[in-house]
Amino acid sequence: MTVTTANDISSLVAKQRSYFAKGETKDIHFRLRQLAKLKEAIASRQDKILEALKADLGKPPLEGCFELAVLRDISYAQKNLRKWVKPQSVNTGIELFPSLSRIYPEPLGVVLIIGPWNYPFSLMISPLIGAIAAGNCVILKPSEYAPNTSRLLAELISDTFPPEYIAVVEGGVEVAQELLQCKFDHIFFTGGTRVGKIVMEAAAKHLTPVTLELGGKSPCIVDNEVQLLETAKRITWGKFINAGQTCIAPDYVLAHKDIKSQLIEAIKQCIRDFYGENPALSPDYARIVNLKQWERLVALLADGTIITGGQYSREDRYIAPTILDEVNPHSPIMQEEIFGPILPILSYNTLEEAIEFVNNRPKPLALYFFSKNRKKQETILRETSSGGVCINETILHVGVTELPFGGVGDSGIGKYHGKATFDTFSHYKSVLIRPFWPDFPWRYPPYSQKALQLFQKMFAR
Ligand code: NAD
Repeated sequence: MTVTTANDISSLVAKQRSYFAKGETKDIHFRLRQLAKLKEAIASRQDKILEALKADLGKPPLEGCFELAVLRDISYAQKNLRKWVKPQSVNTGIELFPSLSRIYPEPLGVVLIIGPWNYPFSLMISPLIGAIAAGNCVILKPSEYAPNTSRLLAELISDTFPPEYIAVVEGGVEVAQELLQCKFDHIFFTGGTRVGKIVMEAAAKHLTPVTLELGGKSPCIVDNEVQLLETAKRITWGKFINAGQTCIAPDYVLAHKDIKSQLIEAIKQCIRDFYGENPALSPDYARIVNLKQWERLVALLADGTIITGGQYSREDRYIAPTILDEVNPHSPIMQEEIFGPILPILSYNTLEEAIEFVNNRPKPLALYFFSKNRKKQETILRETSSGGVCINETILHVGVTELPFGGVGDSGIGKYHGKATFDTFSHYKSVLIRPFWPDFPWRYPPYSQKALQLFQKMFAR
């Protein structure tokens, strides 16, 4: 179904509301059946998904394949859902003996999921899994800048689910704004900080809770006690996968002054080993999503001395993997999220200095620290704040299903992945269950002095 006008959108939301009210989505067997249908729909379209990602971003098939990890996430939800939906008993306390206290997870209702273009398939499906598991109706709005994936998502969903249950609404900013006029029970947004603020403002009008999965500048601190080759490999991979268009890509490197030049040489070598002498010819190197982003990135190349890379081609939106040295911390490239294949490498003298540099900026989505020294690892964990951390690695924490993923401060609000996604799309309802007997008279007026003393004693215990 094609939904484009404001009327279409509000009638779709109304249809989902009526369907939700029927209660079918609350049945755990229903939810498990829908997860199985989603899994089958994705599994049977794997090649088409890889093709769409290639067409939108020039994604190498292996990098596209990382987006198919959502299949594993569906299996995880299928395996654990019975446990997640069970009411949890908590201690009631002697005061209310013999009552029972339980926490019941219940679906929120009709939820909206808005996604970005950089991992345009998985960043729609991953929250959808939790929304289905928790028993909600869902409207998905994929990014207009990954049109092939957006179309494929729309087909996949309309072939698999009725629109009153789950629907894709395709389109750009105007369509997103029409959607935001409607009242939802939760909005799950993945995208930039600027648009995140617009989404939160629109949600506030309806008192709708939001999850904001945003971006920012994720620092990568490299100490002098490291294995240089492995460090360089892991940074090079994390930075240049998807041509740097990854929300948790290392944005810049802060290298200890004693190893900075060796690290630069090692990263240069890794770029050659990974992508060959001319990365433009490598089948394993992606392209920039559109000309607007490409032009923004090309302008940033002037913010330092190019050590390697720096070549670009407008025709196929190519920018070579690039290392920048002698970057002024006040230059534009150090103010905005780079979100492309340009890696500034700055240096520091002491760990305290590196920590201060990070703490003087907005809290990042990810922080990477390379060091063999346990004490220094603990110092970093204790003295910095970020959505997540990898020690001696980049990116891979996102792949651990049981690690909740999300930002802090400017990098976002809320968490998901694994059970955290189910929690995000659930309301935890607190319930007290009392028998009719006994029914002690003390709490009822007229209050007695004896009851006052009793309660004072009881609460002071
Ligand atoms: P974006 O914020 O420009 O767009 C995201 C979505 O919002 C799109 O669907 C778009 O149509 C919609 N949108 C754009 N302008 C809007 C407006 N004025 N009102 C309502 N909706 C609007 O983000 P993007 O360029 O697609 O993605 C890049 C950003 O996303 C980066 O900052 C990156 O770090 C971040 N990101 C974060 C994560 C994460 O998990 N935290 C993952 C991927 C990307």
